[in-house]
Amino acid sequence: MKMMAQRILGALLALSLLALTLLPGPGFFFSCLPIFFMAFLCFSFPPAGAWFLIVYSVGLAVGRLAFGYYPQSLVFPEVLALAALYWAPSFIQENQAGKKDGFKSKYQTKKDEYESFREVAESLKKENAQNEKQLRQIEHLYDVIKEAGSTMNVQEMIELTKEFTERMFDLPHFVIAVLSNDAKKYEVRIASGCDELLFRSFDVELESEGLASVLSREKKPVWISNVDSNGTFSKLRNLSIKSFIFLPFLVQDRVIGFLCSYSSREDFIDQEKFSNFQVFCNQISIGLQKALLYEKVQKLSITDGLTKLYSHRYFKQRLEEELVLANRYSSQLSLLILDIDHFKHYNDNFGHVAGDHVLMEVARILREQSDMTHIVARYGGEEMVVVAPETTKEQAMEVAEKIRKTVESYSFTVGKETTNVTVSIGVATFPQDSQTSLDLISKSDKALYAAKARGRNRIVAYPI
Ligand code: GH3
Ligand code: MG
Ligand code: MG
Repeated sequence: MKMMAQRILGALLALSLLALTLLPGPGFFFSCLPIFFMAFLCFSFPPAGAWFLIVYSVGLAVGRLAFGYYPQSLVFPEVLALAALYWAPSFIQENQAGKKDGFKSKYQTKKDEYESFREVAESLKKENAQNEKQLRQIEHLYDVIKEAGSTMNVQEMIELTKEFTERMFDLPHFVIAVLSNDAKKYEVRIASGCDELLFRSFDVELESEGLASVLSREKKPVWISNVDSNGTFSKLRNLSIKSFIFLPFLVQDRVIGFLCSYSSREDFIDQEKFSNFQVFCNQISIGLQKALLYEKVQKLSITDGLTKLYSHRYFKQRLEEELVLANRYSSQLSLLILDIDHFKHYNDNFGHVAGDHVLMEVARILREQSDMTHIVARYGGEEMVVVAPETTKEQAMEVAEKIRKTVESYSFTVGKETTNVTVSIGVATFPQDSQTSLDLISKSDKALYAAKARGRNRIVAYPI
């Protein structure tokens, strides 16, 4: 209903009731009606209620003062009751609104609190996952270090490093190289996912200008996220390398090896991974150093210092082992004994230094001409032996002949002179010539003597 209509309605109702209360009859009933009307109007049509209140109150007051119609005891309580009724709804509404606002703001605060708790919980969850990941890494690292501590084998150490690297760091391509026994170059011991060209480029002389050598001399970890942004490494683009890391295995300021990983895409490893990896490499370095030393000592103890062939002791041990195997698998095994002809004479003519040089070169020829499975050793003086497992007498004779011919045609330089030597070789074969190692040596020695007796520079096989 329109505002004015409501006001008029209110006023008319008030006037009507004023008139009704003047009528003789049920005065009390009529005096209650305004309160009912008011209660109805103030909730449903507040503007009508306002005008009803004004007109009715003024009417009562005028009626009382001017005409003495209404008793004083009725006028004031009624006006007060009506006024109270009029303001009741707005008071209730305000109160309700206040309460609602209170609830709303409390709800909002709780909601905000919940949100911030949720954020904290979320970040704690993330932190927790991160910590768990780190813990797993540390546990695994601890296992690797423990295992690395219990092995003295370089290759085993490197295998462990490879396994850990693959499991924890997920590197696409990497190589692990360690210092060679003579400490002159880095030898690649493991390459994972590398192509042949790159693989070879990592096997480097210590003093060369190859990238790995240069970085090793720097003795610092290197992390290049994009080779294009660094002039020094931009040529790596030709090898389809976009980013790489280089981690030296550093022990007491000495680089005993390195791990290098690369990728054809930028940023293949993040800073955090790189830092963790550094920690791992530092730990591995100490174990690796121990294993390298042990390997060196081991090799020295079984290697002849001058010729770099296996020692007499190692030869004896291996011959025994190989004979056991040959016996078990019913295979043949041949033994070659080689002696340089008139070597005393050579020493007398050209000196012992030249003689030593001949020994070294003959040893090299012997290694080159024999098979990978053969055990080549220095028996003593200028006598050398070849243990040839799974080799028949005929095959052994062929090998011996290759050796004899190569030595015969080889020129040994002594100052400006070139000299030549020849060798005699005796051959004996298990099982037909002999059943035991000592006897086999003795039979091939007999064959060697026969070769000497028949004029040297020849091969004789047992039986003579
Ligand atoms: P052949 O064997 O032909 O009968 O005569 P040979 O003069 O070689 O005699 P033999 O095998 O007995 O000589 C051994 C010589 O080898 C003695 C020694 O001068 C020489 N020799 C042994 N060991 C070494 C070594 O380590 N260095 C050098 N330079 N000479 C050695
Ligand atoms: Mg001799
Ligand atoms: Mg000799």
